[in-house]
Amino acid sequence: MATIGHFIDGKRVAGTSGRFKDIFNPNTGQVQSIVAMATPSELDSAVASAVKAQVIWAQTNPQKRSRVLFAYKQIVEANMDELAALLSSEHGKVIADSRGDVIRGVDVIEFACGIPHGQKGEHTYGAGPEIDVYSMRKPLGVVAGITPFNFPAMIPMWMFGMAISTGNACILKPSEKDPSVPMRLAELFVEAGGPVGLLQCINGDKEIVDAICDHPVIKAVSFVGSSDIAQYVYARATANGKRAQCMGGAKNHGIIMPDANMDQAVKDILGAAYGSAGERCMALPVVVPVGKGTAERFLEKMLPAIEAMRVGVSEDPDADYGPVVSAVHRDSIAANVGKAVEEGATLLVDGRDFELQGYEDGFFIGPSLLDNVTPDMETYQDEIFGPVLQIVRAETFEEALKLPSEHQYGNGVAIFTQNGRVAREFADRVEVGMVGINVPIPVPVAYHSFGGWKRSAFGTANQYGMEGLRFYTKVKTVTQRWPEGETNDSAFIIPTF
Ligand code: NAD
Repeated sequence: MATIGHFIDGKRVAGTSGRFKDIFNPNTGQVQSIVAMATPSELDSAVASAVKAQVIWAQTNPQKRSRVLFAYKQIVEANMDELAALLSSEHGKVIADSRGDVIRGVDVIEFACGIPHGQKGEHTYGAGPEIDVYSMRKPLGVVAGITPFNFPAMIPMWMFGMAISTGNACILKPSEKDPSVPMRLAELFVEAGGPVGLLQCINGDKEIVDAICDHPVIKAVSFVGSSDIAQYVYARATANGKRAQCMGGAKNHGIIMPDANMDQAVKDILGAAYGSAGERCMALPVVVPVGKGTAERFLEKMLPAIEAMRVGVSEDPDADYGPVVSAVHRDSIAANVGKAVEEGATLLVDGRDFELQGYEDGFFIGPSLLDNVTPDMETYQDEIFGPVLQIVRAETFEEALKLPSEHQYGNGVAIFTQNGRVAREFADRVEVGMVGINVPIPVPVAYHSFGGWKRSAFGTANQYGMEGLRFYTKVKTVTQRWPEGETNDSAFIIPTF
């Protein structure tokens, strides 16, 4: 059986801890490989290599750094088929969706190729008598990225694309459930001509996450995962004086106004609720039909659409979604459906007993649809992270606006309407970080930035875009004077100009 170690100092190395975790093929339910759990001393080796590489990288002129990133973008694109297949085989999402996972990451690498423009700094000529002021954005040094299982290509690239382009070295700690794509991404960086040590990958669990948060040389931690762990990593990393940006879970609402184009809304919500088996932090697991009769009109179209959906293996080009990541996760999704019924929700579609012929051991679960869900239910408050759509009916716009605004999570939200004034007011007032107007999954493009509010994000900096640039750099401001002869300033008062 294949054993996955770490990518340290430009090469794949076996782990030394003797501790491993199983990696499953979610389609078959079989263990396909094992991954080593790193030790703090393996982290030390990676950090030592990163320090050496980063010092030289930070002195490399920006256009040369960009050329490396540009070559990297090309090599990732050239390896798209291999990466997508590898991703699907460990995650379970369908191949077309895995390609999307890689492409949305490459978008950030593309943006990162232009970082020299953003990192130029500011300059004021003549801020005082013969005084000029300029500021520069210096890299932090060695930084770390800790990523979740659900986007094993995109999220690592959000982090190391921004970290490396701004002059840092990055140590990646991917999810132990699907580490092969991040490992390959690190390897491809060296194949593209990237300096050895600048991008490394160490695998592991809580032990190595703690070691990263405590490591004296690592200057910043970027984390994406569930909220309790995000909050824990944020607290631990910042207590150790590091910068931290820690993104957490989500429960995104799709508001359907009475005037929405219902055919379009149903199509959009179907994909956003069930695509990738609901394992997206920007999925739409809650739909809020507003006003009399809107829920009925929604259901009239949604029920046959769910019926027509196809759940299949990742390689099936006709499958709408594949298996979830693990048996434990599948069982937790099913348990949540049962709990919702106990809490009083009406189960309109029950996906719990779904089995795919020939793949009875795979981690498949069919789509579920729950109606009459209310805000007091725990299954509404909690993230289920599976192919389960909950309907919360609202009588008015104000009632609908309150639901996502008062929810503990505030990652994304969408409104479906044909009324620009209503949409504009909603976007302005809703207490959520990313808003879609007739856009079901409003993940911002690479030159904007990604970040939720409330328990969906800890720390102030968003991922990628100019926010990412600011997170991975520190400002140094130089005030210089080139007087002719001596000046008459008093040395005892604060200089005023
Ligand atoms: P997770 O929190 O279980 O794992 C994320 C990372 O934390 C992994 O690298 C894991 O090894 C590590 N980890 C796990 N337990 C730990 C512990 N006790 N101490 C320290 N580190 C630990 O998340 P997941 O199941 O891999 O991913 C799904 C979650 O991520 C969902 O909640 C989803 O909403 C969220 N997510 C959020 C965003 C976002 O940008 N807001 C994006 C994608 C996923």
